Amino acid sequence: MKRVRFAPSPTGYLHLGNARTALFNYLYARHENGKFILRIEDTDLERSKKEYEEMLIEDLKWLGIEWDEGPDKGGEHGPYRQSERLEIYAKYVDKLLKSGDAYFCYCTEEELEAEREKAIKEGRPYRYSGKCRNLTPEERMDYEVKGIKPVIRFKVPDGEVVAFEDLIKGHIEINVNEFGDFVIVRQDGMPVYNFVVVIDDALMGITHVIRGEDHLANTPKQILIYKALGFETPKFAHMPMILGEDRTKLSKRHGATSVRALKDEGYMPEAVFNYLSLLGWHPKDEKEILSKEEIIKQFRIEDVNKSPAIFDRTKLRWMNGVYIREILDIDTITKRAVEFFEGFGYIADYDYYKKVMEAIRDSIETLMDIKERAKPFFVDDFPYTQEIIEEVKNSKAYDVVKAFYEKIKDKEEIKKEDFKEITKQIQKELSVKGKELYHPLRLALTGESSGVGLDLLVEVISIKRLKHRLERFLE
Ligand code: GLU
Repeated sequence: MKRVRFAPSPTGYLHLGNARTALFNYLYARHENGKFILRIEDTDLERSKKEYEEMLIEDLKWLGIEWDEGPDKGGEHGPYRQSERLEIYAKYVDKLLKSGDAYFCYCTEEELEAEREKAIKEGRPYRYSGKCRNLTPEERMDYEVKGIKPVIRFKVPDGEVVAFEDLIKGHIEINVNEFGDFVIVRQDGMPVYNFVVVIDDALMGITHVIRGEDHLANTPKQILIYKALGFETPKFAHMPMILGEDRTKLSKRHGATSVRALKDEGYMPEAVFNYLSLLGWHPKDEKEILSKEEIIKQFRIEDVNKSPAIFDRTKLRWMNGVYIREILDIDTITKRAVEFFEGFGYIADYDYYKKVMEAIRDSIETLMDIKERAKPFFVDDFPYTQEIIEEVKNSKAYDVVKAFYEKIKDKEEIKKEDFKEITKQIQKELSVKGKELYHPLRLALTGESSGVGLDLLVEVISIKRLKHRLERFLE
């Protein structure tokens, strides 16, 4: 059984890079009928916050990513929060100390700094000298008596070459001399990421580690620990980075990059899911709009690109528009839109919101666009600019609006079809057409020179409000 995991640190919002990592793990697990595990990596006690963990979980759920085991769900391999696994780690640290694969190091910051400076002077890359590798019990005792708190380092076997087949990047080989004996337990007793990740992945039976390329340099260190503890090494797949359109690493400079920000900006989770799946992966037929099921069916880790993916916000917006226009049902969109309507001060009941959404869904790309597009459905007392007044009052345009008013003033209601019929009559009677006909009506009814279809607008706002607007204009 294939088992994969997403292992976020709860130190901030879920950003798009991490969301894509979670998504690819999820897709892989579902495609392979395997298991997907959520593990919270919260050993950095200062930066980790419970609120962030809760938000991560909420944001993943919003995206439609579900896991089989995790801190909120339980499972056979728990606990799924690293801060609750400290005893387990201590046991494996002991094991490494006993086997001689790890040792206490008492070097002070100053001593290490001096080593670093020496390396720079000699023009070679720095690595720890291994000074404390072979301390005698007496030497150790001396340090302890002086009150120096040690770190624990992993003893990197000299000159070994670690090689592995990355499922995306291919054959990778690294000489361990590139890094020295690295720290696995800090002075304060907390074990570090490179160590605990191995213990967790091994004990949780993870078969495939799928993560960002930024972790590639950690992998050889982790493989050494797997070997030292006699664990089976999982397969690795390192995904290319996501870059902004200027080809630099995606960051705040590129605008909203957290899942939560996209939600707040009125994006549909289904569209974000679809879009993220195409950041570094593509289906065989290059189709772009794909359902979750289609993506799961087609997703293969081998098809993930080696080169970086570019986050293209315009494309995401376009895709979101497609989901709003063509894919999602009207109730789903309306329910999500309610808080946006309310936020813009457009207050009405659900049925009215639904009618408005029906009228505007073809012309919006995100729910933020409701602000402009839905305005004519809610605001009656908009101002007419001086320009409008000049333009309309002294021309045939006035007659058009007047004629329209005359034809509806005794009506109890007006439908799309009636609007079409009435405008056809005016066209004949006043010999106006196209812009000459619709522009004055639009100005009179909305105060704007472009916007939603007027036939849709008149059908949704009540006839009473329609008359009120026309009367105000014709005054
Ligand atoms: N907590 C690490 C991160 O958020 C996990 C890395 C890994 O997947 O091994 O980057």
